[in-house]
Amino acid sequence: MTTPAASTSPVRYLYDLADGDASMRSLLGGKGSNLAEMTRLGIPVPDGFTVSTAACIATMKAGGTWPESLWDETLAALDRLEQRTGRTLGSPDRPLLLSVRSGAVFSMPGMMDTILNLGISDETVDALGAESDNPRFAWDSYRRFIQMYGDVVEGVPAYAYEDALSAMKRQRGVEQDTDLTTKDLKELVEQFKAVSREHMGTELPSDPKDQLRRSIGAVFDSWLTPRAGVYRRAHGIPDDLGTAVNVMQMVFGNRGDTSATGVCFTRNPSTGARELYGEFLLNAQGEDVVAGIRTPRPLAEMEETLPQAFGELVATMERLEQHYGDMQDIEFTVEEGTLYLLQTRTGKRTAPAAFKVARDLVEEGVITREQALRRIEPAQLDQLLHPAIDPDHGQSPITRGLNASPGAAVGEIVFDADTAEERGKAGDAVVLVRWETTPDDIAGVIVAQGVLTTHGGMTSHAAVVARGMGKPCVAGAAGIKIDTAAKQVTVGDLVLEEGDVITLDGTTGEVYAGALELVPPQVNEDFEAVVGWADDVRRMSVRANADTGEDAAKAREFGAEGIGLCRTEHMFMAEDRLPAVRRMILADDETERHAALETILPMQQEDFQAIFTAMSGLPVTIRLLDPPLHEFLPDLVEQSLTVQRLELQGGSEEQLKHERHLLAQVKKLTEMNPMLGTRGVRLALLYPEIPQMQVRAIARAAFAVKDAGGEPVVEIMVPLVGYAEELRRMRELVEETLAEEFQTAGHRFDYTVGTMIELPRAAVVAEQIAEHADFFSFGTNDLTQTGIGISRDDAEGSFLAAYVDSDVLPDNPFATIDVEGVGGLVRLGVEGGRAAKPDLKLGVCGEHGGDPASIGFFESLGMSYVSCSPYRVPIARFSAARAVLDGQG
Ligand code: ADP
Ligand code: MG
Ligand code: MG
Repeated sequence: MTTPAASTSPVRYLYDLADGDASMRSLLGGKGSNLAEMTRLGIPVPDGFTVSTAACIATMKAGGTWPESLWDETLAALDRLEQRTGRTLGSPDRPLLLSVRSGAVFSMPGMMDTILNLGISDETVDALGAESDNPRFAWDSYRRFIQMYGDVVEGVPAYAYEDALSAMKRQRGVEQDTDLTTKDLKELVEQFKAVSREHMGTELPSDPKDQLRRSIGAVFDSWLTPRAGVYRRAHGIPDDLGTAVNVMQMVFGNRGDTSATGVCFTRNPSTGARELYGEFLLNAQGEDVVAGIRTPRPLAEMEETLPQAFGELVATMERLEQHYGDMQDIEFTVEEGTLYLLQTRTGKRTAPAAFKVARDLVEEGVITREQALRRIEPAQLDQLLHPAIDPDHGQSPITRGLNASPGAAVGEIVFDADTAEERGKAGDAVVLVRWETTPDDIAGVIVAQGVLTTHGGMTSHAAVVARGMGKPCVAGAAGIKIDTAAKQVTVGDLVLEEGDVITLDGTTGEVYAGALELVPPQVNEDFEAVVGWADDVRRMSVRANADTGEDAAKAREFGAEGIGLCRTEHMFMAEDRLPAVRRMILADDETERHAALETILPMQQEDFQAIFTAMSGLPVTIRLLDPPLHEFLPDLVEQSLTVQRLELQGGSEEQLKHERHLLAQVKKLTEMNPMLGTRGVRLALLYPEIPQMQVRAIARAAFAVKDAGGEPVVEIMVPLVGYAEELRRMRELVEETLAEEFQTAGHRFDYTVGTMIELPRAAVVAEQIAEHADFFSFGTNDLTQTGIGISRDDAEGSFLAAYVDSDVLPDNPFATIDVEGVGGLVRLGVEGGRAAKPDLKLGVCGEHGGDPASIGFFESLGMSYVSCSPYRVPIARFSAARAVLDGQG
């Protein structure tokens, strides 16, 4: 850092553009550091200086008082600028005009609008008119300056000036601003001064130096506006970064037909294609392009009108892109044939463009694959994996809810799962609209295009199920009233009936009336290439959670390297199996129970066979039955009503007996707190014939697949273990059963037996448990419930959302792992497991396995794999690579 000759202050607050570079972003802001960098590269940029973020921070700290040396430094910098340009601020002889622009470290809206043409005053306006040979232009610039400065810096309401302008046009009987004469404009300037005086209670400052000081101060102040604060919080930008202020000489794109102003991108930001993309306006100043007074022309036309400047611009675009190694978004002005760059920054782009640009830049040799991976955000993969609403729809949403599961869906409203199922199976596109979904709605959710609920949060049943299926879901859209009886929804004044079409955007949470145009998922070559690079970088493997052969096949297509969690209870829930399952539960003795299990066994075997076949050669972790048995029985209240109804209506004796028996069993199995009740390994030890049957089904399926030439890789997993003794006994049972099966079959296969770590006790005594385990799989969902002591189903829609909204919790702990708390338990489990067996295989199943932030944490623990829903596999592959790269700093 060099000390400017003019400054004697110990802290330097001010940098000439020539003194900075791109690495000084935190001090000079994004705009300032890039302007300095361009200056350094010899790219034509109007001369100027940057007041640093440090000055803003010091001012904020002092409650709005500038650091002592700052104004002197500013005057010194101004003096240097005047020397270099041969112009003087406020002088009637060759006046200097300036722009004053805010420029934070991260570009953000809500900061002060740019002030152009500072330096126009009663003293200089005539000189400008003479210089440009256009007095009308000078006076028009003057009245615009007052309007802008008064509004932005002095807080004079914009309408006050607009009113005066309209009145003037009315008086003169003209329509356009441009129809006003020089004389009119002179009069308007006087009126604007009066308007300012009226609102400020004092004269508008007329000395440009004074205006400059006040403008810089106003930029500092704009950092603290509520609007800017809200934006920072939403984007995680710290409040104490402050903003820089860029003061630059004006260049004029409005000096006739060899002057112009424009914006351009080095590539097409919506497709990523490498082509000319941008607009320009002849004879115009920056603000005119945005103001929409005249329609800008496509950049390609500039080649004809301003050939030399165009050639220079294209060469500069190329150079900037190469230099920064990324697509640039550029502002430029041509003054009488001479090109000036006014800004360059990394261009914002759509998700498809992000992939294309990254891939192309790698192929063009501009950046490395790893740099490309760092450029893309996991959310952008999410966007490409789902259908999206065509961005050009121009419609306003009728309401908003939570963006619970990404993707867009169009369909007719249905209010119950049965209708959804019926119509969906008939091939109709339907959207299931419910207060909240329950497990009974599953069949309807499966066939629906999407789900809309008016209740429940990001962790509600509908949200979780929809995410698992990769189905769009908007949850908790509280603005909608559902009248199920009338089959109507009301949103404000709008009434929609069953059968009316709506469109959901699960990516944003928006709901639209009618059918919007959708664009299909864009898992294209660019996407595949980028995720392929991620595979070369990542250390963890990625598995999927899948319960059917179909899901397993899909998971494999998405790149899953095995199944981390196969939930066998889903096989029990299937409609054709439930009667046998209930018979098993209701059995009075072991013989009856065995008979029921014998019917279930071949069904399970069939499921396992399909999964082993789809995953041939890759590991499949099968979890033994986990949920409490009452989940397979009717609800207690419902069953009581059934019995009551039969008693009142006098049903047959036999039927009544059956229903009463069922009721008794439901009562017996109903628990105060089923999550912590008879489930998992507890259930298995209580009814050993259930896991025995499951293990036999696994063995027979494995043999069948082997016989057919497949290669099953069997991993048997015991859920909800809290004591080493539980696992020891279960392992014994599994091994004995398998030994029997091997004996019968006359041959054997390799297998492993492991456990879920999903109870705090298990994490604490992991070293003991590991003695009996070949692998651990962290069930982070239940570990979050039991570790924090939050029942997910009860938390959703009640305190959890409020907790997150009011920042008691930073995130929903079921979506992103609570690193400090639950993560601490995971760490304990990992350490304990490794203490017993250094090579113990460690994985994560549960939704966190597909969450980018959580994946970063699992990488840091050196987990072997993460497992997530099939649709999230590419995101997990990508995130696992990012975790490695981020770990490298
Ligand atoms: P924004 O964040 O709105 O883009 P900028 O500070 O980049 O704000 O500028 C607003 C407009 O003013 C842009 O069109 C820019 O080209 C123009 N502008 C800024 N500084 C100058 C200058 N020194 N000469 C001419 N035009 C300028
Ligand atoms: Mg701005
Ligand atoms: Mg800009």
